[in-house]
Amino acid sequence: MIDRESLALAADLAAAYLESLPSRPVGARGTLDSLRAALGGPLAEEGVDPTRVLKDLAAGVETGLVATAGPRYFGFVIGGSLPVSLAADWLTSAWDQNAGLYVTSPAAAVVEEVAAAWILDLLGLPATASVGFVTGGQMANFTALAAARHEVLRRAGWDVEAEGLPGAPPLHVVVSEEAHVTIFASLAMLGLGSRRVKRVPADEQGRMRPPDLAAILEGCDGPTIVCAQAGNVNSGAFDPLAEIAALSRAHGAWLHVDGAFGLWAAASPALRPHLEGAALADSWGMDAHKWLNIPYDSGIAIVAHPSAHRAAMRATAAYLIPAAGAERDPLDWVPEFSRRARGFPVYAALRALGRRGVADLIDRCCRLARRMAERLEAHEGVRILNEIVLNQVLVRFDPGNGSTTGDATRAVIGRVQRDGTCWLSGTTWRGEAAMRISIVNWATTGEDIDRSAEAILRAAREGAG
Ligand SMILES: *Cc1c(COP(=O)(O)O)cnc(C)c1O
Repeated sequence: MIDRESLALAADLAAAYLESLPSRPVGARGTLDSLRAALGGPLAEEGVDPTRVLKDLAAGVETGLVATAGPRYFGFVIGGSLPVSLAADWLTSAWDQNAGLYVTSPAAAVVEEVAAAWILDLLGLPATASVGFVTGGQMANFTALAAARHEVLRRAGWDVEAEGLPGAPPLHVVVSEEAHVTIFASLAMLGLGSRRVKRVPADEQGRMRPPDLAAILEGCDGPTIVCAQAGNVNSGAFDPLAEIAALSRAHGAWLHVDGAFGLWAAASPALRPHLEGAALADSWGMDAHKWLNIPYDSGIAIVAHPSAHRAAMRATAAYLIPAAGAERDPLDWVPEFSRRARGFPVYAALRALGRRGVADLIDRCCRLARRMAERLEAHEGVRILNEIVLNQVLVRFDPGNGSTTGDATRAVIGRVQRDGTCWLSGTTWRGEAAMRISIVNWATTGEDIDRSAEAILRAAREGAG
């Protein structure tokens, strides 16, 4: 029987939570012990009424929730959820489709196909590229690099899916020294090793240096994969992709671009020049749960060579019923087998925003990042460390009282987190501690920026005084 009471209660609890986002403290207040006390205990012999369970769950998690979906969460690169994508995500759960095969959900397969075409068009990527809807940026990088591994070894006469890596021709992997940690994790999982990569030095904004790439490629004979990025996770900077693509192509290397959030900038006519050359890559990894503001988990793997993509992912079993015609089996393009129909919320967001809406979302966040930088740097003792080319702001605070810059900056971050007006975290930038502010939420307004800048400056003054 349908439990409408539980569904209605969940909708009420969700709405109440979302309404609290603009005013609630952004960080969690609960401690490990208090949360364990609120939620733990042995599993009872008898079950509990569903509405009681939902109410208890909502009450129990309350102090342990972080307002990442709210307008003043600037930590990591997180993103919120557009209302329409959240609603579509609820429907995805209600429909409970298995989006592995066309036959298990023709609707999910077609919606992914449509959303994939929209994304390629929006970002100016080749319309013939294949797209897999995965769980996040890490799996997007993993999937794309699996396709890369397949293709560069195939060209060297080796079938890596059948034979594995033992005995394979040596494969070179070249990454920026600023590559995201998930690139290394993906390489580790693919048996390519996270330490045996060659690292290309980056400039003061974190951009890969093409002359160094050229020199390193000189020393790579045989199958080679190059990993560049669009959107440095600290500075937001873009690697010079046109030059990198030309060098990779001349060398016969596969070029992968990690564009977890930065690739969305291609949807903005104003920002697209930063991505010149991006379309010349062989694969791209990106997130929908970051800048497109889709609920977790939503990553996108894109490969310019569909046959390599499919060969690296494809599972076959006697009981599977592969699509015989033009139908798309989603599992051909992702590491998972049974899976959530994560195309629905992406489709809903893209349709609700339209091309202009996506561009506005991206441009607005970048404008707000510049506003934040202006508010902060107007004050003595506050330094902005990066060129604000995108949505990321790196800040350092001069010590007022004989401590080091690193200590002063870490102390300001701690006070901002405890204050609760906004939440942000630290990073290491060019060897020293920095505050990192990331603006990727559809709901953030100019007023949120001003309030947050005031809270940050207050925290800085408290340290100095
Ligand atoms: C966030 C991020 C990733 C990882 O994405 P997840 O969705 O967290 O797995 C990879 N690369 C870059 C540049 C990122 O910003």
